[in-house]
Amino acid sequence: MKICLLCDNKTIIDSYYLGEPAFSLYIEEGGKKILFDTGYSDVFLKNAEKMGIDLKSLDCLVFSHGHNDHTGGLKYLLPYLKDVILVTHPDCFEEKWDEGLPVGSPLSIEEIGEHVKELRLTKEVCPLTEKLFYLGEIPRIHGFEDNTVGFRIIDGEKEPDRCLDDSALAYDGEDGLVIISGCAHSGIVNIVDQACRITGKTHIQALLGGFHLLKEDERSIETVKHLKDRDIDVCYPCHCVSFISMYRMREAGMDVRETGVGMKLEWR
Ligand SMILES: [Zn+2]
Ligand SMILES: [Zn+2]
Repeated sequence: MKICLLCDNKTIIDSYYLGEPAFSLYIEEGGKKILFDTGYSDVFLKNAEKMGIDLKSLDCLVFSHGHNDHTGGLKYLLPYLKDVILVTHPDCFEEKWDEGLPVGSPLSIEEIGEHVKELRLTKEVCPLTEKLFYLGEIPRIHGFEDNTVGFRIIDGEKEPDRCLDDSALAYDGEDGLVIISGCAHSGIVNIVDQACRITGKTHIQALLGGFHLLKEDERSIETVKHLKDRDIDVCYPCHCVSFISMYRMREAGMDVRETGVGMKLEWR
């Protein structure tokens, strides 16, 4: 599996790509071209063009969840989706608000459905290739990872949003699992556990993406305690991982690497 980071809060030095506080990752695996999230604006598309990545020939688009720092860029991709299967959680496109602002997908499910070959809305685990899996709705096991982000609107009523739509990917590689998260509202430890549960594997060669560790609080302290006890070779924290959380992971003995737009990685 090959990946390239198209959109992130940071960019790698000496390559003049654009950054924004959002996330988008391009994946090639098993002969398929897969896009995981589309960032907030057209930044992911501009970066992909500069990198020579052709997003007009995608096979599959996956959304980690509905927040607009992951779905906002979709409107720029609409003309190229007629042969694309869209995989995500059924709650991904519901209306979401936070601090008085709309923070959900700018497009409705009906608007998107007109442009893609197939909408695969599922809470279940879904294979994208023989070795790469969408993890479905993540079981919320660890209490310290429980949180809400603003409100979602269900039948005209506001309710605190637990972000049940938040999911992730797992690659079952020859040298171990590669787990890829978007924002990890569902909890990065819950995500790691779901990936291990569905594949029956415990060795993780890489954990990559947003871990939703924004400050030093109980969640980040407990998360580091759990992650350091898992069998993880390397962590690539992106998007929503604070410097102090990365520092604490490193201090706990974990191998934490620098990330940014333009990062390319490959695993067997
Ligand atoms: Zn989010
Ligand atoms: Zn995010």
